[in-house]
Amino acid sequence: MKQTENFSDLQRQLETMNEVLRTSNKRHYELLESISDGFCAINREWCFTFINNSLENIFKKQRQELLGESLWSVFPIDSHPGIYNSILQAMKELKVVRFQEYTPEFNKYLQFSAYPSKDGLSIFAQDVTEQVRMIEALIESEERFHMLANNICEIFWIASPDMGEWYYVSPATKHILGLLSEEFEEKFPEFWQRIYPDDLQKVKDAYEQMKERETIVEFRYQQPNQPMQWIRGKGQPVFKEGTLEVVVGITEDISKIIEREELLSRSEKLSTVGQLAAGIAHEIRNPLTSIKGFLQIIQADRSVPPTYTSIMLDELDRIESIVNEFLFLAKPQQEITFEVQPLRPILEQVIGLMQGEANLKGIEIIVELTDLALLKVRGNANHLKQVFVNIIKNAMEAIQAKGKIKIVGQVNKEKSILTVLIMDDGPGITQERLKKLGEPFYSTKEKGTGLGLMITRKLLEDHGGELLFDSEIGKGTVVYVKLPFIE
Ligand code: ADP
Ligand code: MG
Repeated sequence: MKQTENFSDLQRQLETMNEVLRTSNKRHYELLESISDGFCAINREWCFTFINNSLENIFKKQRQELLGESLWSVFPIDSHPGIYNSILQAMKELKVVRFQEYTPEFNKYLQFSAYPSKDGLSIFAQDVTEQVRMIEALIESEERFHMLANNICEIFWIASPDMGEWYYVSPATKHILGLLSEEFEEKFPEFWQRIYPDDLQKVKDAYEQMKERETIVEFRYQQPNQPMQWIRGKGQPVFKEGTLEVVVGITEDISKIIEREELLSRSEKLSTVGQLAAGIAHEIRNPLTSIKGFLQIIQADRSVPPTYTSIMLDELDRIESIVNEFLFLAKPQQEITFEVQPLRPILEQVIGLMQGEANLKGIEIIVELTDLALLKVRGNANHLKQVFVNIIKNAMEAIQAKGKIKIVGQVNKEKSILTVLIMDDGPGITQERLKKLGEPFYSTKEKGTGLGLMITRKLLEDHGGELLFDSEIGKGTVVYVKLPFIE
């Protein structure tokens, strides 16, 4: 009796254990079914013994079709050597292997983890396509950003809220500010030092204000051994949930724009002067002739001290030369004809004309015009002569005694522009004064009119040309006459 009791006890116990096992298996099974990762078990013959829901979805096949089939029917060894080698390793060396593979048949990136068991392998396959694509997109957008940053000619920057730290400064900073973006933070004091002193406070205030609202500031910036630049800085705060997160901005070189504006206002000045000249010059010249005539008669009269009359005559000469240059400006347009003609003979004629005076002063004129050959320009010969006379005269006056003037012709075939350089080894012109050249009545000479270069510039502009200067104190001046030529 006791024994039967024991036996049925055992049976009951066994049943409960079976039940527990069944539920546990069921739970395992349910668990594996419910996970979003693909899961399968394969035996030592590489055949599927279990496949969960998610893997069915990834493989796009029902488990009935796959169970009993070989893993290599899904991933042919030839086309998936990576999967083969890793799985083989897990099976042979009985170790956990993790690897990622792109599977073109499913158009997915799968992250595999293979766990060896005594029956074979349990394999998890996680679909990581989205993550991989996201990373790829990130890399691509980063690459795009770098392309943008490297090629855009403005600097863009991101700074900490107190603007004490520069999170990002794009590479254009090298070209614009002469500071490498990598060393921008450490060289930042240099940036402030290079700002033109008169503009410094304005820039400081603007940068302070950028933390509060969009601010634009234009200022002058001087790099060593370079012409003064005009810089425009623009910055604004970026807030996140009400607190200032970063300050962002753009910095650009606007020297060219400013130059153009200056040119515009100068040509406006020019045309006003031209109109004025037309009105006044004739009115002055006629009385001038009679005054001069009578003065010469008076000069013969011993009762007037000759120094007085000679001063008066000198002054009158000066007035006359101003009026003549004015008249030149004011000449009615219909008189001027433009013809297509070679430039070189014009230049040679002018140089011949000036040679005598140069010899007297001990100035050597060196001429290199071979490059110009027979290049033709469309222009008025007299006006072009006037241009070169004015410039060479200035060069001779600058040298004063003994020196060299070099006149060189250069050709830019691509742009169809020729340049005549008139170089002297005179005293040179300061940067400040260089900017004033060509403004009416700007002269440093006792007897100068300060109209020569203004007229020269206007004449050249009428010819579609340009007048440029370069000068170094103590070394001399280069004047560039640029003219379009006709093939
Ligand atoms: P002007 O010759 O009557 O003074 P310009 O318009 O021809 O008037 O020249 C203006 C000024 O530019 C000159 O007074 C001089 O100071 C300066 N300048 C022009 N050319 C030169 C040069 N080659 N070297 C130095 N200074 C020059
Ligand atoms: Mg002059």
